[in-house]
Amino acid sequence: MGTTVIRNIWAVGRNYADHAKELNNPLPKEPLFFLKAGSSAQEGSVLKFPTTLGELHHEVELALRFNDKLQFSHYCVALDLTDRTAQNEAKKQGLPWTRAKSFKGACVLSPWQEFQNQESFWHQQLRLSVNGEIRQMSLLTEMIFRPPELRLKLLEMYPVEPGDVLLTGTPAGVGPLKKGDQLIAQLGHESEIYWGVET
Ligand code: ZN
Repeated sequence: MGTTVIRNIWAVGRNYADHAKELNNPLPKEPLFFLKAGSSAQEGSVLKFPTTLGELHHEVELALRFNDKLQFSHYCVALDLTDRTAQNEAKKQGLPWTRAKSFKGACVLSPWQEFQNQESFWHQQLRLSVNGEIRQMSLLTEMIFRPPELRLKLLEMYPVEPGDVLLTGTPAGVGPLKKGDQLIAQLGHESEIYWGVET
């Protein structure tokens, strides 16, 4: 799976009520989809991105990957890195989010694991700590729109391709990252994922 090219990264905004509230956004009645360039994906434990960004925020998310039949076949823990300064400016001016969401390295992906759609999967907790302090923590059941529903909406409206990725939204607790930060993410009882921000 890792060698398949990622053409599109479909992301969902405001999919956890507590996160929508922390950024003073209304709850969506329909999924709010936006795109990150497929080529903005980065893998590996050292996080790199351009030095020209504004305040860079972490958003930990469950990522799902589409197979040849456009079913979810793999999942991983991802970071939807966001230039919050650019996003706030874009929101104010009614401009697109590309600068805030699709810069080089903006989508951090951990190694893919095989996905099986069992009810127990959705009852796992997603966590992210930065320098030993828990920043984000939520059950996947807290999502407003759950991935099977997101998938149907996507397939109805957009040119989804095999190998594409869906980012399912972030829970509350987003916050800034700086050089040298050490991140640990975990889904359920699976092994921890370590990332370090390049110094
Ligand atoms: Zn996000």
